[in-house]
Amino acid sequence: MTEVKLKFPFFDLTRQYSAIKGQVVEKFVEVLNDQSFIHGEAVTQFEKEIAQWLGASHAISVSSGTDAMIAALTALRIGPGDEVITTPFSTYATIGAILYVGAKPVFVDIDPRTYNLDASKIGKHISRYTKAILPVHLYGQCAEMSPILETARRHGIAVIEDFAQALGAADRGRPAGAMGTLGVTTFTPNKNLGGVGDAGLIVTNDGELARRIRLSRLQYSERRNVAELLGTHSRIDGLQAAYLSVKFRYLKGWIEKRAEIAQRYIEELASLAEYGVVVPPVVEGKLHTWNQFVVRVPQRDQIRKLLALEGVPTEVYYNQTLPQQKALRGVCGERGWPEAERAARSVLALPIYPELEPHEQDEVIRGLTKVLRASVRKEAAPLTAEPVALAR
Ligand SMILES: *Cc1c(COP(=O)(O)O)cnc(C)c1O
Repeated sequence: MTEVKLKFPFFDLTRQYSAIKGQVVEKFVEVLNDQSFIHGEAVTQFEKEIAQWLGASHAISVSSGTDAMIAALTALRIGPGDEVITTPFSTYATIGAILYVGAKPVFVDIDPRTYNLDASKIGKHISRYTKAILPVHLYGQCAEMSPILETARRHGIAVIEDFAQALGAADRGRPAGAMGTLGVTTFTPNKNLGGVGDAGLIVTNDGELARRIRLSRLQYSERRNVAELLGTHSRIDGLQAAYLSVKFRYLKGWIEKRAEIAQRYIEELASLAEYGVVVPPVVEGKLHTWNQFVVRVPQRDQIRKLLALEGVPTEVYYNQTLPQQKALRGVCGERGWPEAERAARSVLALPIYPELEPHEQDEVIRGLTKVLRASVRKEAAPLTAEPVALAR
């Protein structure tokens, strides 16, 4: 095994923190002085700010994105015997929630260009058990929402948007999260608005759904000491809300910074098309949040190792489709979503975050170019299969 030293981290939150530290500490001190750790002013304020920004009537914060998804499904009374149509190419969290409430995920293949649910294929998977369509706005770009919303409306079923990677995105001027029946997001630290640990949020324009979700996060007790239904405790902390509120002021600017970095990658990697590199498309009418910048490359795992030898950090989201996950055994077959399977073999995420330095981006572009050129000039430097250990 060759030890390699990456030249800079794939993602680095310390840079962001050093820019906002003073404000964070000030806000934390306020919460500590008030000792308002649960559902205090900071939480109410944060929910209000987010709802307003997204143009939604209600924003309800909970403990995590997974909890938010469980709360959304439960509020829609989705459970055993019900089916939810979703993408096979996403993180496990979304599907975990569907399984957790006892419902069945029905996977519809992705559009190979955007990696999002292929809206044109949804119709034929709708059965009398279908209760919702659950698109994930992958990497920060919205799924094709108009046909999805139209299909759902025609069948009288709900749309739950997973906008965990797309807070601040939009589809034809409509903010991600607020287009469907319910929108679910998360503030895990690696998202564009990352918190101090786990936190999640549900947005909706439906007052009754909002009421049920608000009750469910407090053990369904509207009156003190009276629990009416089976619920849970699922809330974000005052300190968490204070932290998120500080960062929220910068979110728009940070997304713009990400978009600049993405634009440069798109321009400078265009010449690598001859080596089979496919840069992500920016679909007309969509505002992308660039939570990830994901290219397709041939022989992805090899290229990734060679890049690491050049000191260039990369990640893979995702190297398996959801039906291939162990937890999905027995739910559906492992194969049958060819575009998702192809994507899982070829996607490669390049570093992108607002504080990524131009010289670091240079390294990524130079590294990728070098590795690809070498790999196609076979006599010069064939791709090796040597295992490489990544030094942190
Ligand atoms: C990060 C992410 C989640 C995870 O939510 P948690 O807060 O970690 O439970 C859900 N869906 C998508 C698409 C994500 O990227």
